[in-house]
Amino acid sequence: MEHYDAIVVGTGHGGAQAALALRQNGFTGSIAMVGRDKEPPYERPPLSKEYLAREKEFERILIRPAKFWEDKQIDLLLESEVVVIDAQAKIISLHDGRMLEYSELIWAAGGSPRKLTCSGAELAGVHAVRDKSDVDAIICQLDNGARRAVVIGGGYIGLEAAAVLRKLGCDVVLLEALDRVLARVAGEELSRFFENEHRRQGVDLRLGALVDCIEGDGSRVTGVKLADGEVIACDIVIVGIGIVPAVGVLVDAGANAPNGVAVDEFCRSSLPHVHAIGDLALHANSFAEGAMIRLESVQNANDMANTAARDICGNPVPYEATPWFWSNQYDLKLQTVGLSVGHDQTVLRGDPATRSFSVIYLKAGKVVALDCVNAMKDYVQGRKLVEARAEVAPELLRNADHQLKHCV
Ligand SMILES: Cc1cc2nc3c(=O)[nH]c(=O)nc-3n(C[C@H](O)[C@H](O)[C@H](O)COP(=O)(O)OP(=O)(O)OC[C@H]3O[C@@H](n4cnc5c(N)ncnc54)[C@H](O)[C@@H]3O)c2cc1C
Repeated sequence: MEHYDAIVVGTGHGGAQAALALRQNGFTGSIAMVGRDKEPPYERPPLSKEYLAREKEFERILIRPAKFWEDKQIDLLLESEVVVIDAQAKIISLHDGRMLEYSELIWAAGGSPRKLTCSGAELAGVHAVRDKSDVDAIICQLDNGARRAVVIGGGYIGLEAAAVLRKLGCDVVLLEALDRVLARVAGEELSRFFENEHRRQGVDLRLGALVDCIEGDGSRVTGVKLADGEVIACDIVIVGIGIVPAVGVLVDAGANAPNGVAVDEFCRSSLPHVHAIGDLALHANSFAEGAMIRLESVQNANDMANTAARDICGNPVPYEATPWFWSNQYDLKLQTVGLSVGHDQTVLRGDPATRSFSVIYLKAGKVVALDCVNAMKDYVQGRKLVEARAEVAPELLRNADHQLKHCV
């Protein structure tokens, strides 16, 4: 049986950065990166943006050129799904029966797109947006004439996909079950701004819209039926309703994994010699007052990868990273910093009508997060307020003539 000193499971953002960070931190042992994907590590954010819009070729979204991994002596075992971990024997088993022995394991398997549970969810023409293959299937359908799209889910991925589909000339209906888009991650001002923006761009955006089932002609999707009986005719459905953390294999191995894998401040799971990072890592986050949360962002995947690698290399530094995120829709660049969940006050800085403004979130008088739309300066300067948990008078924050850097 082949032995590796470190095995990284998952070739996404977290996995790629973990392998890289091991080498950067002086790890000289053998490393394998084992992943289900066919392709070498690539960035996921462009999948619902430039790659779907065909503004970026696949080669331009590779995290590193394929040869880089060879040069760093990191073995890439692609199209290889890990199905079992024996944490006592330190052995993983792959879907095709191969077994590999490890000294250290980093689990960076991300999550699978949450599926609709209604009938018709498996029809051809119903797509998720998680992997390159998902987006290739959407592009292929658009090339074959699909023009009427229904997007289910008003989170970032659904909104970004809707924006691209509009740019490509599709008719788009966006269905959100709650009473506003982005309800899980942002305050009401931001939700209303993006709702207006999508409507202005021609998206038929419906709030409080519950899907009853997906209708088809026996094989392909023909429409989406709502709970009130209306059927929206379409050729293509894009589902963006969140992810289910990929932790089944770790749970079977005995890991503590309530909603994601619980990890400590060094990204160690409850299994010996198994770190867990990225979208699936349930951790105490100081920007959420120590609450156990999962963060689905490139920032979190990269920073946790660095934390795990340092720990393995004997230089442990607790995970303490400022959360940030971005989203591109039409000509709008949203940048967020901090965590707005649990805020008790918002301050609007600038005028949404100018399409450049920020929403500042406070909790007990302290700045906890900012959502900045086409407002790079606020984002850069506001970050310091978040990191300092600064107490600033709302009038000062509201005054767009007063730079945020002078509020620290
Ligand atoms: C369409 C899209 C747009 C996004 N946009 C943004 C954005 O604008 N900004 C931002 O910050 N974040 C964005 N994100 C989120 C960001 O991409 C994720 O948070 C990040 O990829 C998480 O990294 P990860 O390593 O945890 O998981 P992933 O990058 O998902 O990697 C997990 C990898 O593990 C593999 N895998 C799973 N199970 C197994 C197994 N059993 N065996 C082997 N391999 C396995 C998967 O195939 C995958 O390659 C976006 C995500 C998507 C899907």
